[in-house]
Formats: sequence, structure tokens, C-alpha cells
Amino acid sequence: MEPRARTVALLTPTGSDGTVASRMLDRVGFEARVCQDMAATVRCIADGIGVLVVAEEALRPAAREALVQVLDQQSVWSDLPVIVLLEEGELSGAITPGVAQLAARGNVTLLERPVRFATLVTTLRSALRARERQYDMRDSIAERAAAAEELRESEARLRATVQAAPYPMMLHAEDGTVLQLSRAWSALTGYDEDELTTTGEWARRAYGDDAPDAEAAMRDDLARHEPSEGAPRAFGERVIRTSDGSTRVWEFHSVLLGRLPDGRRLRLVAANDVTEFRRLLQSERTAREEAEKANRAKMDFLAVMSHELRTPLNAIGGYTQLLELGIHGPITEPQRSALARIKRSESHLLGLIEDVLNFAKIEAGRVTFDLQPVLVEELVGEVDALVEPQMRDKGIRYTRRAAPAVSVLVDQEKTRQVLLNLLSNAVKFTPAGGEIAIAFAARDHDVDISITDTGSGIPLDKQEVIFEPFVQVQRAYTSTHGGTGLGLAISRDLARSMRGDIVVQSEPEHGSTFVLTLPRGE
Ligand code: ADP
Repeated sequence: MEPRARTVALLTPTGSDGTVASRMLDRVGFEARVCQDMAATVRCIADGIGVLVVAEEALRPAAREALVQVLDQQSVWSDLPVIVLLEEGELSGAITPGVAQLAARGNVTLLERPVRFATLVTTLRSALRARERQYDMRDSIAERAAAAEELRESEARLRATVQAAPYPMMLHAEDGTVLQLSRAWSALTGYDEDELTTTGEWARRAYGDDAPDAEAAMRDDLARHEPSEGAPRAFGERVIRTSDGSTRVWEFHSVLLGRLPDGRRLRLVAANDVTEFRRLLQSERTAREEAEKANRAKMDFLAVMSHELRTPLNAIGGYTQLLELGIHGPITEPQRSALARIKRSESHLLGLIEDVLNFAKIEAGRVTFDLQPVLVEELVGEVDALVEPQMRDKGIRYTRRAAPAVSVLVDQEKTRQVLLNLLSNAVKFTPAGGEIAIAFAARDHDVDISITDTGSGIPLDKQEVIFEPFVQVQRAYTSTHGGTGLGLAISRDLARSMRGDIVVQSEPEHGSTFVLTLPRGE
């Protein structure tokens, strides 16, 4: 209880009465305050007191009027208890009109003198208890008012936030009343705030014939939302119609945000305008499909062309051989050397055509793999035997570390083709007197076979593109050394199709290391 609410104000015509009474009351635990006259009493009441005790003789007409006026002007929660001490014998007779008037206007208790002290104490206690409840009421009224004010302020803040949001946002009550739209909502749709006062109006404009469906979905969302208040829910993508008749794609989210003071639930709907994104995605998809179609056509053309070229080339090779063998009569030495040149060119051309054909086949997914565990040693041994003569011719020093005694799960024929390609490249791009070395690293799940050369090396910005078809770094150089720029593309495709890979590390002028990784196959 507030200290002021415990105060007993005493108004007695003679100051000494008041002082005596005040002392007695203090002794039994009351906090008495003596007022000299009605003006002092009115000030006391304004300060806040628990109960007022007045002797009847202090209620002269003017003073009584002042008191009645003060009592009339109390706040709604206040009804100050007033105890009037009447003249002796008065209660049994008629009450003076003045006292009756006061009793009619206020919360007045009449006690006839002489008053027993115990009676006065009990009366004061119950008056103070009643007064305490009035102060409680005052506090709860104040609290409620503060809470209502806070709610109003937070709603105003929410509305301001929604209005300023740079993307579409709508705040609405569960009955569909739109409380706030963001400016972005109106800007993107062309619908004005006054056109969209309810969610129903929005649905009719934005969804046309689908409006009932959209409204049902909103209601359903509200119903299902209940347990997860405050947690945003994805509400899906919808095509909306704008005021100029065009359409946009919006991706909706919604969240329940408590209740309005009148009890209606509040729902915040936020949308992400994904129109451009969807459009880009669609055109990207179309472009990719077209590119893939063009690529397939190119591959088909390459496959058919290589195939068609191979037949006459084989005929050229065959007839050259027949001429060389003298089937059509004896040939002179210059003719023999010319035929040898024809033969070399024919096999070179055939090699290129085989490359193109292989590449086209891999790209078309027409290559099948026969995966078997093969010892690493076996794979490498077969291949380096093929390139050793060329290395010897060029005076290249060749070293091979001992292969680990593990096997890899590969298609033996195709892996050999990959290794041969890497080794031939090493020989091709390493000048006379250089070095080539093969090393191994076995891990839990795979094995690295690395081929290091001291050749020309590859610039950093070319180290990825050399794996693309038809890419050659040193055109001038390779034109004299042959090649199509397909070897690495084919090799990496083959390696990846067997769950392996090829990577390169290289420093121009110092050489390159190509690492072929293959899965282990115990
Ligand atoms: P090709 O050898 O038929 O040109 P590849 O696909 O095998 O085609 O190689 C592509 C290009 O990568 C080569 O033209 C060359 O520029 C570069 N390259 C490949 N291997 C090496 C290497 N060991 N050293 C330097 N450059 C290399």
C-alpha cells in the first residue's frame, strides 16, 4: 500500500483535540496528520490521504461546501472515506441538513460522540482497507492505459516500417482488413492503397478468376499458422496481375504478429518479386538447350565426317602398300621414297581422324567401359615400352619409380590410351636432352600416376583450357609437331568416366607435371 494511502487526516476545530487524537492514533500504528482548517484539509487531500476524520463542528457551511466540491472532483477511481464525528446524542435524533448533504455526496461514515477508541480504530482500519483497494484500482487503470499506449505506438511503428519497406509488404487483420501496404507493393502493381482496403479486393484484382482459390489459401494459411506465431512461412509463388494488365511472379512469405487491441490477429505478408529472375532463368535454359542441340549437331557432323574420311584414307593406305610391294610392276627408288611419304602422311591423317572420332563418341556417351582391377605396374609397363624408342631418338632421360603393388579399377585399354597420350605429349613438348619421370602416390581410395617433364611448360592462364577440345597453346610449334588439341580433352573425359581425373601443374620454361588419379580397385 502507498504510504499516503495510510495517512489519517484529522480536522478538528480546536487544535489541541486534534493533537491528542493524533498521538493516540500514532500509538496504535496510524499515521495521523492534523489539519488546522478546511484549506489545509483540501491540500492534504490533494497530496493523497487514506481517510479524513472531521468533527461536525468543523463543518461550517463554507467549509462544508469546499469539502463537497473536493469530493465531487475526485478521479473516477477515488471515493475518499470521510468519518464525521457527530455531536453527542445526535444520531438518535435528526441529523443536521449540512451533514446529511455531505453524507449524500460522499463515502461518509457517521460516529456519535463519545466514540469508543476501539470503535474509531476499527472504523479507520476498514476505511483504510477500502482506500487501499481504490489506490490499487488507480494503479491498474494506469497500467492498462500505459499498455494500450504502448500497443498503439508499436502498431504505428510497425505500420511505418511496412510502409517504408523496399519490397512488397502488406499488413492485414485476420478478417481481411488491410492496415498497411508498402509503397513498393503499390509501385509494382499499380494498385493504390485506397483500392486495396481488403485482402478480398486484392485477390479479385491480382488473381481474377483464381481469386476464390487464393482467398481460400490465405484462410488456410491463417488456420495452420496459429501454433507457429512469429515464425515466417513460405507461402509459395503466384502469378499476379497488375493494374496495366501485365503479370508478375511474386514469391510470398507470411507471419502472424499477435493481435490488435480488439483481439483480431495480425498477419504480415511479404513478397519477393522474382519476375526478372524467372525470366532470366527461362531464357538461360532455352539458350542452354539450343547450345546443347548445336553441340550435338556438331558432334554428329564430326563423327560422320571422320567416319567417311577413314574409308578413302584406308584405300589410299592399302593401294600405297600394294604399289610398295610391286604388285603393279617394279618401282624406282624415288617412287619408293614418295610412296613412303604418302604412307606417313596417311597414317598421320588417320591418327587425327581417330582422335576426332573418339572424341565425338565420348561426347555422345557412346563409349562403354569395362572396369576391371589392373595392377598399376602392368598399366605403366605396357605404355612406356611404346614411347621409349621416341625418347631415345630425342636423347631424353627417362626415369620410372617402382610402382606400388596396388591395382586400380579401370578399363585397361582406355587407361593405356590416356597414359600414352600424356607420355607422348611429354616427349613432344620436351626438347632434346630433357628429362621425363613417372612417379606414384597410393592413398586409401585412389592412386596418382604423375608424369613430369622438363619441357616448355604451360602458362597459368592456359592450364585449364588445354583440357578443352581443339585447344593448343603453341600453335606454331604444334603445327610442326602435329596433333589436334583433342588428346587431353579425350583423356580427361575418359579418366572422369572411370571416376578418376587429370590435373596439371606447370611452370613455363621449366616443365609440367600431369597427374592422373585413378580409383583403387582391390
Ligand atoms: P595435342 O597434343 O594434340 O595438341 P592435347 O589435348 O594433348 O592436344 O594438348 C593440348 C595442348 O596442351 C597442347 O597443344 C600443348 O599446347 C599443351 N600441352 C599438353 N601437354 C603438354 C606438355 N607436357 N608440356 C607442354 N604443353 C603441353
